[in-house]
Amino acid sequence: APVYSPAPTLGGGVENSGNAASSGSKGEGDVPTSASPGKGDFLPSPALLPLAPRVATRADYRALSGELIDDVLLTLFRAPASYTGEDTLEISCHGNPYIAQKILEDLVARGCRHAAPGEFTQRAFLAGRLDLSQAEAVMDLIHARGERALAAANQQLRGSLGRHMQGLIDRLLVILARIEAYIDFPEEDLPREDQSWVGTEVDKLQVSVSKILETNHYGDILREGLRVVILGEPNVGKSSLLNALLGRDRALVSERPGTTRDYLEEMLLLGGFPFRLIDTAGLNENPEEIEAKGIEKSLSLTEEADLLLLVIDASRPPPTLPKPVLAAIRPERALLVANKSDLPPHPATAAAWPEIQRVRTSMLTGEGVEALRTALARHAELFHVEQGADVIAINARHAEALARAKTGLARALEQFRAQAPVELVSSELRGVLDAFGEIAGRVDNERMLDQLFASFCIGK
Ligand code: GDP
Ligand code: ZN
Repeated sequence: APVYSPAPTLGGGVENSGNAASSGSKGEGDVPTSASPGKGDFLPSPALLPLAPRVATRADYRALSGELIDDVLLTLFRAPASYTGEDTLEISCHGNPYIAQKILEDLVARGCRHAAPGEFTQRAFLAGRLDLSQAEAVMDLIHARGERALAAANQQLRGSLGRHMQGLIDRLLVILARIEAYIDFPEEDLPREDQSWVGTEVDKLQVSVSKILETNHYGDILREGLRVVILGEPNVGKSSLLNALLGRDRALVSERPGTTRDYLEEMLLLGGFPFRLIDTAGLNENPEEIEAKGIEKSLSLTEEADLLLLVIDASRPPPTLPKPVLAAIRPERALLVANKSDLPPHPATAAAWPEIQRVRTSMLTGEGVEALRTALARHAELFHVEQGADVIAINARHAEALARAKTGLARALEQFRAQAPVELVSSELRGVLDAFGEIAGRVDNERMLDQLFASFCIGK
């Protein structure tokens, strides 16, 4: 069966105004011919017969030299009804990298060039077919790990963030109109009701901006994974727990305390969320030098964790954790894994840390592993910030622009309340408008655009 490999073969077509395969302008030996005996009954040469747009047409692919390379499908997209808005020819060859390479080399020999990373999406953006947040969503979609990331990327691709930003822009424009109506009348003050209205509206806008800004961490979680740090004394079963969650033997399990010297990191999908599970070095009350380093590492990992899995051996007395580590534990961001439930419980341990949600587990019998998985997925849900019906999960670039907008709004409000000249307030708000505009598009900085699209994959 024909295998579609649209991405790499698209590379050459872009710069080629006629498009190499179907124009016929290069005369003899043009890409698709069906002259080979036995294959003549497929279709007449598309070089002779113009390709119908959006219809896959079977053809022989012949190199300039006349060598038959593959049996391909050609699909022509006429401007503006294509991804980039330009004429595009897609060549689908069999899924053999050698064949794809031969076709690419031939296209280059015909005057095509390889597309730069993200060039198709950049062209689509420049042609106005996507706003910038949608273009970024294409990248999120390609890299989506788990159904939550996929859902967020799909919504953003369909313009959810752009719509939210447009809503903010519209509200800001109304505020600006009210204020700027008084620029030409410096002797007149804003009527009192306008003053209080502007104050309230700018305030509300700040709240809306903060709400979208809050989704940045959810975006990080969807893109990078929720950071789960597994912490506990040596020999309590941390590595066994990691293996049980992953369902395979990844971390080294050992009878001897202190085997896991450095930390291990593993990706895991649970409830549609990506998790980064980090198994720390064993914590020791009276550490040797290497363990001291481990504690330091554990401490910084604890502080950066979205969720701490504090693993204890329920059959032994409560662990005496180093003070700085204890101080770094936030109960709402922690789960207490009371492991070795197959052994007789130690009463003092059963009563320890009542403020942290507890899951009883046994890595020996498998008890509690499912409950732990459920608790993990539920914890990830906590990071989801409601934005009406839309799933918004902004990235670092959006967050930077929104933070700037937030500062600008605060400054404008301060100036406004201090009765600063209307021009000042207005110019501050114009800066906020620019920051809003950057998120969905209207970025004048070409270097920034090039950088953004350069982080895309080749062929997209
Ligand atoms: P770590 O040092 O915290 O990573 O602990 P390990 O996962 O290496 O386990 C230490 C020892 O405890 C090993 O011998 C495990 O087989 C054993 N172990 C782990 N979990 C349990 C459990 O739930 N019950 C019992 N009885 N033994 C366990
Ligand atoms: Zn271990």
